[in-house]
Amino acid sequence: MKQAAVIIGAGIGGLSAARALKRHGWSVVVLEQSPGLPASGTMLGMWPAALEALGRLGVMEASRRTDGWAHIAAANTSTRLWTPSGRTLLTVPGGAELHLVSRPALLAALAQDVDITFSTHVLESGQISDADLVVGADGTFSRTRQEIFGARFAARPLGAVAWRGTVQASVPEYGETWAPGALFGITPAGPQSTNWYASLRSGQTFAGPHLPHLQRYFGSWHQGVRHLLDQIDEDTILHHGLFETPKLASLFRGRTVLVGDAAHAMAPFLGRGACEAIIDGATLGQCVALAPSVEAGLAAYNKARRKRTQRLVLSSRLMGQFAMLDTGAAPRNAVMAAAGSIARIITPKPPGRP
Ligand SMILES: Cc1cc2nc3c(=O)[nH]c(=O)nc-3n(C[C@H](O)[C@H](O)[C@H](O)COP(=O)(O)OP(=O)(O)OC[C@H]3O[C@@H](n4cnc5c(N)ncnc54)[C@H](O)[C@@H]3O)c2cc1C
Repeated sequence: MKQAAVIIGAGIGGLSAARALKRHGWSVVVLEQSPGLPASGTMLGMWPAALEALGRLGVMEASRRTDGWAHIAAANTSTRLWTPSGRTLLTVPGGAELHLVSRPALLAALAQDVDITFSTHVLESGQISDADLVVGADGTFSRTRQEIFGARFAARPLGAVAWRGTVQASVPEYGETWAPGALFGITPAGPQSTNWYASLRSGQTFAGPHLPHLQRYFGSWHQGVRHLLDQIDEDTILHHGLFETPKLASLFRGRTVLVGDAAHAMAPFLGRGACEAIIDGATLGQCVALAPSVEAGLAAYNKARRKRTQRLVLSSRLMGQFAMLDTGAAPRNAVMAAAGSIARIITPKPPGRP
């Protein structure tokens, strides 16, 4: 008999799990509290393992050539690390083609042929009790996580906030600027568009309008940041506090399993959250399909994903702390600059370059 799964949340994690389970013959329904999939959102960088998982989920090359997906050639992906005054500490030469996708385009591709019930709060739905598998894909503030593991596993604030968005303009250089308690990043989003993000150590989020806050904290930084700030449209700014999931001893209990941010919300400083949510979904489908029972499949999923994603939660937090160091910023910058000089000396010059 066909097995049935209920998935709570139609985000990247939930829809990836839905596709994976469907491809392995499961009957799947996704319950989403919002009235529809979001129509706007910034670009997400896709790491190679996430692209490979998208291939396994049947999100094929054809949909990856539609609007909202962008490939940036390796030659154009070099990035710099600056101080707020504009001193370059490090230049990382372009090494790999970058694959970017807007959140709405990714969600639309993952949602194809998936049965989603919108405006449904999971607790009001009677569909859960009959399911063979319940997937908690309800994001950072997952109620599923708290229901199965308790309130002490509520998301933990990281004492920092982020603003992010995309501007319809190209910039001469990409990179990140680090200062005590703050950072500003500029990354490609497409041939004529640019992603930006800013983070500030702060115990509370800010009320809008947001451009004045951005000008206040970053408006005296170097020309690259000022130029970017001048292009930002207030209505496109997203603002959040940053949180992470406490370390879980297991990603499942009984027939309920967690994927994506519900399992391992992380600081955004490595740009990995969405990628790991896709990989979770693809891995869950495969593990459950290959195992002799749902429980054995969930144990295999837990083994494949728990420690790996928890290491990323830690690394993302440490990356943010390192970038926004107060004490020790000067020696850190000296080390980064020295590493940059050594890299310049030992990196072979491309043929034909002086
Ligand atoms: C500033 C910032 C920048 C980022 N940049 C990147 C990047 O460049 N690359 C990258 O890979 N990742 C990035 N991420 C991380 C990425 O956005 C998340 O990891 C990813 O969206 C997680 O997907 P998810 O499906 O697990 O959760 P979500 O996207 O949060 O989806 C959860 C869904 O569940 C629904 N839901 C919640 N509760 C219920 C309920 N009770 N009943 C029904 N539905 C419910 C919600 O409405 C939502 O649709 C960034 C994050 C931040 C904060």
